[in-house]
Amino acid sequence: MRTPIIAGNWKLFKKSGEAVELVSQLTHLVRDTKGVEIIIAPVFTVLSTVKPLIANSNIKLAAQNCFWEEEGAFTGEISPGMLMDAGCTHVIIGHSERRQYFGETDDKVNRKIKAAISSGLTVLFCIGETLAEREANCTFNVLRTQIEQGLSELAKSDLAKAVIAYEPVWAIGTGKTATDDQAQEAHAFIRGVVADLYDHTSAESIRILYGGSVKPENVKELMAQPDIDGALVGGASLKADSFAAIVNYLV
Ligand code: 13P
Repeated sequence: MRTPIIAGNWKLFKKSGEAVELVSQLTHLVRDTKGVEIIIAPVFTVLSTVKPLIANSNIKLAAQNCFWEEEGAFTGEISPGMLMDAGCTHVIIGHSERRQYFGETDDKVNRKIKAAISSGLTVLFCIGETLAEREANCTFNVLRTQIEQGLSELAKSDLAKAVIAYEPVWAIGTGKTATDDQAQEAHAFIRGVVADLYDHTSAESIRILYGGSVKPENVKELMAQPDIDGALVGGASLKADSFAAIVNYLV
């Protein structure tokens, strides 16, 4: 059985006051939720502010990025060990916005994943095709390459610390969700690639989240797909009631 994950990616939103307000409401709204792993990913500067507020809750803390070196002369970067020190258990790596705006290549994503996992973090590894790639019928090739390169040199035992997030770039922040069938088709394909690279057991155990305009209105149908094990939520994670409604999709 794969425990579902609902993760909120706050992106570049929420200063400390707003973060405290959101988390205080959220801990209350999801306090009775069982059987779902709940993760929030605030900006770096409020990780330590949020940590004590979720200490006695069922919410886990993620960062949105990290560097692959542990320390050194790398101005402006943050290492996996520093994220652990700030109370994170998870880190998002390879989000399409980082690939698009910050030059993150599959190779850099791979280095970050290896460093984060060896420091003890669980990685939410993002992949997904652009609209042009989908229209050119390249979706599966793109996904295969991203997975092969992103997970390169990762041992089978490391996969326990990896979660894949399929986020079609054309569905992010656009209000355009992939249909349930499109999402399921991609998720089944991704699971197949993991089986090719590792084995059937690893493929069956790894959790694959869907991301891209997930809302309270569409989460239930998405979660009903056999290969969708959770959601990575952007916009709708910025309001406590909508994120809580997504977390409580079973209720
Ligand atoms: P939206 O839910 O705003 O489309 O964002 C999805 C996303 O990028 C989560 O990482």
